[in-house]
Amino acid sequence: MTNKELIDFAASIIKTRKTKDTLCGDVGSALLSQEGKVYLGICASLGSAVFCAEQNAMGSMITEGQYRIAKIVAVWKDEDGCVHVISPCGHCRQMMMDLDKENLKTEIIMDHDKTVALEELLPHHTWWKKQSVIVS
Ligand SMILES: [Zn+2]
Repeated sequence: MTNKELIDFAASIIKTRKTKDTLCGDVGSALLSQEGKVYLGICASLGSAVFCAEQNAMGSMITEGQYRIAKIVAVWKDEDGCVHVISPCGHCRQMMMDLDKENLKTEIIMDHDKTVALEELLPHHTWWKKQSVIVS
């Protein structure tokens, strides 16, 4: 599966809706599981609750008992219909790692021809295990 195919999947589900104070559904995500299945998710920003498109895609994957992500992308579509690849937020990065430590090898799509491994976006992810101190 190419980056462009996943980007197109993510963009295809965007249905932006303007709410009172914000936009909803303006970011889409597509992930390719290690088993080769594509899962999609959309963001929701509803004032009192916000969740990311990547979290939604991961939730869809979890409903089928899958936890390993081979590749993931999130895209935002602007008012002119232009699609922009965006990097996952810190919460999504942490969630990917916490789903399965092997996800540190997940390819995060940054562009049509560029990916970075999740571990590059979480460079100090193990420091607390190596340096943890029990405080009584
Ligand atoms: Zn996020």
